[in-house]
Amino acid sequence: MNSRRRFLSLSTLGTVSGFSTLKAFGQAKRVDGPIVLSTWNSGIPANNRAFQVLQEGGSVLDCVEKGVNVIESDPNNRTVGIGGFPDEEGHVTLDACIMDERQRCGSVAFLQHIENPVSVARRIMEDTKHVMLVGEGALNFALRNGFEKKVLLTEKTLTAWKKRKAEAIASQPEINVENHDTIGLVARNADGNLAGACTTSGVAMKLHGRVGDSPIIGAGLYVDNDVGAAAATGWGEAVLENAGSAMVVELMRHGRTPQQACEEIVNRIAKKFENWRNIQVGFIALNKAGEIGAFAIQSGFSYAHHSGGKNQLIKSTSLLNNA
Ligand code: ASP
Repeated sequence: MNSRRRFLSLSTLGTVSGFSTLKAFGQAKRVDGPIVLSTWNSGIPANNRAFQVLQEGGSVLDCVEKGVNVIESDPNNRTVGIGGFPDEEGHVTLDACIMDERQRCGSVAFLQHIENPVSVARRIMEDTKHVMLVGEGALNFALRNGFEKKVLLTEKTLTAWKKRKAEAIASQPEINVENHDTIGLVARNADGNLAGACTTSGVAMKLHGRVGDSPIIGAGLYVDNDVGAAAATGWGEAVLENAGSAMVVELMRHGRTPQQACEEIVNRIAKKFENWRNIQVGFIALNKAGEIGAFAIQSGFSYAHHSGGKNQLIKSTSLLNNA
């Protein structure tokens, strides 16, 4: 078959069923049972909660939301939810999104004073005609819907922010911030349905009003129930410029394993993003068959994989080996 015809046949199969695409090319090793996959060390407690939700009969959407809620509500995590590091003006502004097996999505960006932005994103998805609300509009929506207004800046983050301010440290690409950046979590339940969630306080010392990749559907997160799900972490601008997570899912649709798809998009970012050697970007991916993959620019990226009753923290492979 010539390459154009092969491409067309792949595309057609992909639109009908991603899983049959994978099977047709003999690449999928089916893994049974629920699977939860998430970024960084904080993925371990998030996966535990997510898995528990499934065991208690919750939906795959409940599972991804409640899983990342644990990290949003942890004041000791400096990169997500309460306790998240502020922007250069000292405001904690949060970005988050969520996506379910029906291709529905919800998102919030530049949201202040709300501990669990991903739950606001879910309400937008379920209760409005829209996908995304930002800033004051998102805050007012949250307050109208019973979310409590909170102070998200903790003593610790205020002290750290003052120090950086005094040293005039502006937003800059930070590699593996305290080893627990943005949490992206994707899951497949026992019925084979996929969902994902992504939540962050974004890059420390960012400009006031900056929005990263994490709340942008297709950049920080993407789910296609026919194919798979992917999430990103790291320097959001590089992920945004390359529509990172959507590309990972698209590559899986066209027959790549999750690992190959993550590697290909990281390589593409390295080719196209001038400053790539000084940033971290990492992806995780899960396909419909239950296979997983992860890859990053720098070493130091880790992910948590809950499958077959075991929840394990795994070191990702990377483009640069600079541990
Ligand atoms: N991707 C996030 C952002 O750019 C930050 C991170 O994952 O560390 O806002």
